[in-house]
Amino acid sequence: QGLVRAVRRFGCSNFQRRFASTLVIAEHDNSALNAITRSAVTAASKLGGDVDLLVAGNNCDKVVEEAAKISGVKRVLKASAPHLERRLAEELEALILHAQNSNKYTHIMGASSACTKSVLPRVAAKLDVNQISEVIAIESEDTFVRPIYAGNALATVKSSDAVKVMTTRATSFDKAEMNGSASVEEISSAAVGASEWKSEELSKSDRPELTAANVIVAGGRGLKSSENFQMLYKFADKLGAAVGASRAAVDAGYMPNDAQIGQTGKVVAPDLYFAIGISGFTGAIQHLAGMKDSKTIVAINKDPDAPIFQVSDIGLVDDLFNVVPTMTEEIKK
Ligand code: FAD
Repeated sequence: QGLVRAVRRFGCSNFQRRFASTLVIAEHDNSALNAITRSAVTAASKLGGDVDLLVAGNNCDKVVEEAAKISGVKRVLKASAPHLERRLAEELEALILHAQNSNKYTHIMGASSACTKSVLPRVAAKLDVNQISEVIAIESEDTFVRPIYAGNALATVKSSDAVKVMTTRATSFDKAEMNGSASVEEISSAAVGASEWKSEELSKSDRPELTAANVIVAGGRGLKSSENFQMLYKFADKLGAAVGASRAAVDAGYMPNDAQIGQTGKVVAPDLYFAIGISGFTGAIQHLAGMKDSKTIVAINKDPDAPIFQVSDIGLVDDLFNVVPTMTEEIKK
């Protein structure tokens, strides 16, 4: 009877809200927390209810310490074991399902990343629910906004699944503050052993990583060669910026694949974005799909009709080979 009275008093959705609880999957490399985790916690906090953060790894005490400081996290679930070191999808899936069995979360989520894109669809399949990808806004605990058609349209989706499994776009949610004090609880799951970590080859750079940079200098086919990209690197170094590229520049071999920004590359949203020798969207919007949420867009292009000028805050119609060295010199001064 008390339950019925509570439902009547709060209304059904308020009543459910009181019991919402979310498990967020932390991104890290066993020594430091990736900041996109904090944006996922902000998204989770918008759902109402408690937020638990799963830190799965090996010898990852420093990450757990950091995770416990994220505002909005009630409990950090620490799972530290050799088989979790590389967070292989099969091992992580078993752990998440184990946590789900014990805690009956209403939402399981993580910032969109290679890891969550690999493991969360598996979790959703095992729970027999849909996976909702790249959520950019939370309207309520069952209604979410996500881009479709390469960001050309936004779909508002309502899920009636008992458990909502989703990834969130890190650039769409602010990073949660670091003044929390969550409790830490240890959990474990047996090794699955279905896959094995062999090796990895990582590109090393002293420059900021594209998806985390506050300033990005991106070049397009207008640069005309990989040697000419050195000019952008010099400019970027003066600004502490990351260097990115259009697909046309990557396809032409001027820049490596991991520098590509756009629909089939990285999605970025820095404070300041330079689009240099990039047309914008020659009949397509694929580059735009990866950078249009940047706070200020500066376009440099010698063609006054280049479509990029339609989305830029500041446009400079000039030859990049004059402009970029001049700007680099001016910043030096
Ligand atoms: P161009 O369109 O050739 O533009 C070069 C620009 O440089 C021109 O505007 C020109 O005026 C200017 N320029 C030339 N010389 C100078 C100079 N000296 N000074 C100043 N300006 C100069 N593209 C992406 O970027 N990212 C993606 O993820 C992506 N995914 C795609 C997925 C699919 C399925 C498809 C079909 C396409 C995708 N593309 C993507 C490609 C996209 O459609 C465009 O072809 C590409 O972005 C164009 O790159 P660009 O602007 O560098 O080259």
